[in-house]
Amino acid sequence: MRHFAIVGSGPAGFYTAEALEKAYGEKARVDILDRYPVPYGLIRFGVAPDHQSLKAVSKRYDKVAESAGVDFIGNVTIGRDVSVAELLELYDAVILATGAPHDRKLGIPGEELAGVVGSAEFVGWYNGHPDFADLDPPLGSTHAAVVGNGNVALDCARILAKNHHEFEGSDIVGHALEALDQSAIRTITILGRRGPHQIAMTPKELGELGHLEAAVPVVDLADFPPVEADEPLEPGLRKSVTLLRGFADLPPDKPKRMVFDFFAKPLRIEGDGKAERIVVEKTELDEKGSARGTGETYEVPASLVITAIGYSTSPIPDVPFEGGKFVNEGGRIADRLYAVGWARRGPTGTIGTNRPDGYEVADQVAAAMPSGTAGDRAGAEGLKRLLQSRGVMPTDYDDWRKIEETETARARPGSPREKFVRPEEWLQAIGR
Ligand SMILES: Cc1cc2nc3c(=O)[nH]c(=O)nc-3n(C[C@H](O)[C@H](O)[C@H](O)COP(=O)(O)OP(=O)(O)OC[C@H]3O[C@@H](n4cnc5c(N)ncnc54)[C@H](O)[C@@H]3O)c2cc1C
Repeated sequence: MRHFAIVGSGPAGFYTAEALEKAYGEKARVDILDRYPVPYGLIRFGVAPDHQSLKAVSKRYDKVAESAGVDFIGNVTIGRDVSVAELLELYDAVILATGAPHDRKLGIPGEELAGVVGSAEFVGWYNGHPDFADLDPPLGSTHAAVVGNGNVALDCARILAKNHHEFEGSDIVGHALEALDQSAIRTITILGRRGPHQIAMTPKELGELGHLEAAVPVVDLADFPPVEADEPLEPGLRKSVTLLRGFADLPPDKPKRMVFDFFAKPLRIEGDGKAERIVVEKTELDEKGSARGTGETYEVPASLVITAIGYSTSPIPDVPFEGGKFVNEGGRIADRLYAVGWARRGPTGTIGTNRPDGYEVADQVAAAMPSGTAGDRAGAEGLKRLLQSRGVMPTDYDDWRKIEETETARARPGSPREKFVRPEEWLQAIGR
């Protein structure tokens, strides 16, 4: 019997488990470990609460967790409760699927001011991540800014722009909904260092902005190249740019505005003890398509500044780490140690992009240890003994189902669940 440990229960972890299950059947046991008793990583804590159809992918992961050869072991932090070296003693292979939970920094003066938050913090706050339950973002002034031109920036801007009842059917947590109800924000400026042709926003997410009840997206057509220049763009990007151009025709007849400010490079954030404005330099594209400052500066008022410019992985002791992710070649870090998902390739791609990653690494594992060859590692039994000796109480998949049932039972009408946002509440729900 082979024993495999996957560290992290987000999409990458689950696709890898699915692939290992298919490759080994009953000849292996696959344990998916997570620091939290609740699985699915960014499906729970990242994907926007008003995009429930995307979150439904977790049903597929449920099937994997329920299959005979796979177990979910929650409430265990690798690198703190147990080391990677210890896991390698207990398991034939260890696959790190720990994602990329930390915000990249802008690296400009004023970033430390109150009111400047990373998108992981802001998204975690409205999605019930325990680390950000107390974030309390300042929503009392009229102006906010989001720095970044990807879908995460759009998520943050849209959440700030929506009305109470536009959250019907979502699982936004109660504390965020209450705070947003009181929000005074009327202008949300979305800052991008380059132009409309360089965005990383997809048509579905952009299209939604044209149909918000209380907010209108605003663009300046002077930022766009001539329309013929859209022709050679990749079809998805062309569609996004066409949608952006179309925003210029929308009547500005709604109380909130989402202003796309292109060719705008933040230089510093200023304010008296808290963010009040961003000083921005106008840019242009150089020969290589990078942003080059023009020397012309202006101010964008913003008491809340959300930076959405990418993420990095958490290092784990003794695992080589560089450039915000684990050092790996095609997913292999070292003998019997692998990485998948965002921990492997950095924070890019959709949920589905993690599937080929997981399958590729599972193929490598199966090639190194063909199904049917013997292994003599202790697996989950050894891990649980070790954890017990350290006073760590792991949770299992049934515990998660209990937490989920309790969250479902306490949901507001029309909402699928009201998430617990504190670890002690999760443990209470399972009688600990
Ligand atoms: C704000 C946001 C919105 C997004 N929206 C979409 C979308 O609409 N559509 C789409 O296709 N994609 C979206 N994505 C991208 C998608 O979420 C990612 O592609 C995917 O979640 C990456 O999967 P992962 O398994 O690598 O990491 P994650 O999903 O981050 O999972 C990592 C897991 O590892 C666990 N972990 C971390 N460290 C440890 C440790 N030391 N010990 C134990 N466990 C640990 C974490 O608790 C977590 O469960 C979004 C991403 C973000 C940030």
